[in-house]
Amino acid sequence: MASARHRLTTPGTRPEGELRHMELGFIGLGQMGRRMAIRLLDAGHSLTVFDRNEAAIKPLVERGARRAASAAEVAAASEAVLMSLPTPDIVRDVVLGPDGVTASNRTTMLVDLSTTGPRMATTIAAELDKAGRITLIDAPVSGGTAGAEKGTLAVMVSGDKHVVETLHPVLSVFGKVFLCGDKPGMGQTLKLANNIIAVAALAISSEAMAMGAKAGLDPQIMIDTIMASSGGNVALRDKFPRAVLTGTFDFGFATGLSYKDVRLCVDEAEAMGVPMVVGAAVRQIMAVTNATFGSDSDFTSVARLVEGWAKTKIRSRPS
Ligand code: NAD
Repeated sequence: MASARHRLTTPGTRPEGELRHMELGFIGLGQMGRRMAIRLLDAGHSLTVFDRNEAAIKPLVERGARRAASAAEVAAASEAVLMSLPTPDIVRDVVLGPDGVTASNRTTMLVDLSTTGPRMATTIAAELDKAGRITLIDAPVSGGTAGAEKGTLAVMVSGDKHVVETLHPVLSVFGKVFLCGDKPGMGQTLKLANNIIAVAALAISSEAMAMGAKAGLDPQIMIDTIMASSGGNVALRDKFPRAVLTGTFDFGFATGLSYKDVRLCVDEAEAMGVPMVVGAAVRQIMAVTNATFGSDSDFTSVARLVEGWAKTKIRSRPS
């Protein structure tokens, strides 16, 4: 199934190089994981996969991945295991639980692509250190489902530098690798900093766009103008055109997960003595979005929330 050597064609901080074939495992085949796992298969890696949702496994098996019945089975078949899972607690269970990665003694490298925060990364790394066999690497990603599909994610990597070096060609398959530090948790901190900025942009853009729409401005003209002006941001560039102006609210990231990211960030900052006044407001608006539309709704629903308050809609006009 897998070819032994492949040229890298994805962007990265290093020039193209030879990609060593590795036996890899992937756990968590959701919005992000499925797309990243497909890229690994397309790059020629052998992949053993597991997800607690059977339907998520099928498309990977159809493309040549091996199915495992548990995280432990994935680890038994893999030198390195990658995870893209929803929450810190789930990651802890999948790694340290009875049927988890540590139940097998084959895997030596473990990569957390999920957003789980620095505290969980350091806790898990410390537990793994006690056994001294598996090294944890942070590699949370940014760039959404489109970036996961195209291999244009930002991959925020930290941990033991030799292991990072070994895994660099694998991580480059997902996009551009940013080396953030030599300890677990540092990549996770950078990811939380990124996400609070991204969600703040989504929230304030929702409020400003609702104001404009209610005043009679065409939302598309607003976006075109603001993107050429000082208020331009990624929410207006990507999220509004795809999921708000269309009224579909389906960008591909769950409100519950976004709320989790913001909570992790504000809690972490507070624990470090870094006040986040704006961050606290962002946390509240995500709490209300979560309570109003449910954790499975798309996080662009924050615009729907503001539309309701403003009694207006932010939609494309018929041309
Ligand atoms: P998702 O909910 O779509 O996927 C998570 C997958 O994990 C699901 O298929 C689920 O069945 C599986 N899973 C849950 N518990 C499991 C367990 N115990 N064992 C095995 N599988 C289990 O989530 P997602 O949107 O793909 O996000 C995954 C991670 O990446 C999250 O931490 C999220 O914050 C982060 N992230 C998401 C995006 C995005 O745009 N969706 C972008 C960047 C980062």
